[in-house]
Amino acid sequence: MSSKTILVVDDSKTIRNLVSFILQSEGIPVVTAENGLDGLEKLYSTQNIALILTDINMPRMDGFSFIAAIREQEIYKDIPIIILSTEGEEDDMQKGMNLGANLYMVKPAQPERMVRNIKMLLG
Ligand SMILES: [Mg+2]
Repeated sequence: MSSKTILVVDDSKTIRNLVSFILQSEGIPVVTAENGLDGLEKLYSTQNIALILTDINMPRMDGFSFIAAIREQEIYKDIPIIILSTEGEEDDMQKGMNLGANLYMVKPAQPERMVRNIKMLLG
């Protein structure tokens, strides 16, 4: 599992650093991106990305467009995607899940719970 890298996409440097710290403390390698476009670039250029954790509200390309762009590609149709958003609204959750996200977590998520969910989706 240590070779499986997680892509963390969020426009907040604080969130990127926090989530990276939590995952790296578990021995999980992390790559970060600042928005959906940056996230796609990192996804294409990084080996072994096994799961994607993404924010929704981001400049240039938001999380919804990012998820849609990933899921329309055959090779990424099964990669687990977790949405980590400040928006706890039912509509946003439904939209994210309809686009192909596997899980929706509301910030601030408990670190233990986030790690447990990630490990579950990594299998
Ligand atoms: Mg944001």
